Amino acid sequence: MKVVLASRNQGKLAEYRRMFELLGVEIATMDQAGVPADVELPEEADTFFDNAMSKAQALQKRIGGWTLADDSGLQVDALDGAPGVYSARFAGVSARGQSQDRANVALLLDKLSAVRGENRSARFVCVIVVLGPAGQLIHAQGTCEGHIVSEPRGSAGFGYDPVFMVTGRPHTMAELSMDEKNEISHRGRALSKLGDQIRDTKWC
Ligand code: IMP
Repeated sequence: MKVVLASRNQGKLAEYRRMFELLGVEIATMDQAGVPADVELPEEADTFFDNAMSKAQALQKRIGGWTLADDSGLQVDALDGAPGVYSARFAGVSARGQSQDRANVALLLDKLSAVRGENRSARFVCVIVVLGPAGQLIHAQGTCEGHIVSEPRGSAGFGYDPVFMVTGRPHTMAELSMDEKNEISHRGRALSKLGDQIRDTKWC
């Protein structure tokens, strides 16, 4: 069975390939599926699930077959769940990659400057959707609880990792190795639930 991933993020591709290998499922890229490099998948909904669904559906419309999409982000309680589905473009859409990450983190710390202690609670959320050609749908959500520290710490990971202190650990996400992060992260947890569901079906 082959599933096409609705993302061009190489980090995500590696994570998904590692897990689906164990299930005997091959993860193909959009390039391998012949999707032109300038094609953007829609990500304009209000929920992680709807965004993941719309990306998986848009890709399936183009190529048929099995598709997989995810959506993830950070919810901060003191900001009523923001940045949420807007996590990637919290500080605007002009920057990309590390400079965008830095701008997002700076804005987050600024918005929380008057918020103290346990009121800085937050969580990462990830929803993964797999769609089949005959309308099959499997989806799973994973979360990782923590709080936002006032100074960035660590250099691993990406996005908000340097300011996200994981509950029960003396480290930010950016101070964990990739394997340690995958074990406890929102994406790792969603992947593991999804794997359980795929094993329970007769699809592969
Ligand atoms: P997307 O799922 O690729 O749309 O990611 C949305 C945004 O959420 C990313 O650009 C990051 O800002 C943030 N995010 C998602 N997952 C993580 C994570 O594991 N660490 C840090 N930030 C993350």
